[in-house]
Amino acid sequence: MRTETDCIFCRIVRGEIPSERIYENDLVIGFRDIQPRAPTHVLIIPRVHIASLSELRDADQSLAGALLLAAQAVAEQEDIVLNGYRVTTNTGAWGGQTVDHLHFHVLGGRRLTAMG
Ligand code: 5GP
Ligand code: ZN
Repeated sequence: MRTETDCIFCRIVRGEIPSERIYENDLVIGFRDIQPRAPTHVLIIPRVHIASLSELRDADQSLAGALLLAAQAVAEQEDIVLNGYRVTTNTGAWGGQTVDHLHFHVLGGRRLTAMG
């Protein structure tokens, strides 16, 4: 299994750093962002260490699907589907990525402003 000793999110997967985990399956986990930018702000991450969207491979097809389906499931769980929500992944320095372990933000619970 791909895992990194010092990666914050690998440590969250292993339970070495506490998190408010609200979703999990064989491939991914979902937990609340420590610094929420909206009433619902959940991070969906693969259990294995993948640095960013750019590092996903053809062999990761089912994992890629699992991440999006988990985002959808979390939106339903959080009851934000009716009003709408946003799923994003920041990639690389200019994309605003600050943790180098692939993650999707699920944001909702308020009207979100335009991106950029
Ligand atoms: P990025 O800026 O890479 O798109 O998103 C990283 C996110 O991880 C940020 O929204 C940040 O608040 C969140 N984050 C960083 N460290 C931790 C942590 O230890 N626990 C949790 N729950 N979230 C974290
Ligand atoms: Zn990691």
